[in-house]
Amino acid sequence: MLFVANCTYALPDCPVCGTETLLVSEQNDDTSKPSRNISVWNRSMCGSSMFKGDSSICPKDHYAFDASMMKWWILALENKDGFALPLEKAVYDFPVTEKANSRVVYYQHFINKDTVRHSLHFWCETDHSYFQVIREYAKKSGLNLEIEVDRRENRSTVMVETLSMKELNAPRLKRLEDLELQRTQNAEQVGTGQPM
Ligand SMILES: [Zn+2]
Repeated sequence: MLFVANCTYALPDCPVCGTETLLVSEQNDDTSKPSRNISVWNRSMCGSSMFKGDSSICPKDHYAFDASMMKWWILALENKDGFALPLEKAVYDFPVTEKANSRVVYYQHFINKDTVRHSLHFWCETDHSYFQVIREYAKKSGLNLEIEVDRRENRSTVMVETLSMKELNAPRLKRLEDLELQRTQNAEQVGTGQPM
């Protein structure tokens, strides 16, 4: 007898707290409260979330898995105390200017929880003396800092991170390299196993 199972894809458990995750597409954004995860429900952008398909979210601490695009876990919040995995202290203590004229959003991204990228993003008035302060802070704390100055708007974006996206992806690239190496070695073994 040919048995055809209901083809339900098992959603991953939350790597932080172990709770079963739920499909993002079946959750509602409660707009009377702060967003549970700004990457999933970014209220400043119109409508559709990039968390499509089998993307899922932990109902407890709101880490979300992007199954459709980047295949990583992400949590983005304005509340820096809202992370179940504590934010890296240097990011937590980053001196955010009073002249920030956007939301100040903290992020954690990871592929596996051993390597977490902590970051912070906001726009502010262009203020070179402030930029000097944060450059020194970033240097002292070993953070990557990017400041993009928009001269026309007198506005700048500030992004600070513990790891670059490239560093975050390094374990994944390494795994691909290992697979490739394995494949070459297997091919060689098959090659030597051939009868003369
Ligand atoms: Zn969780």
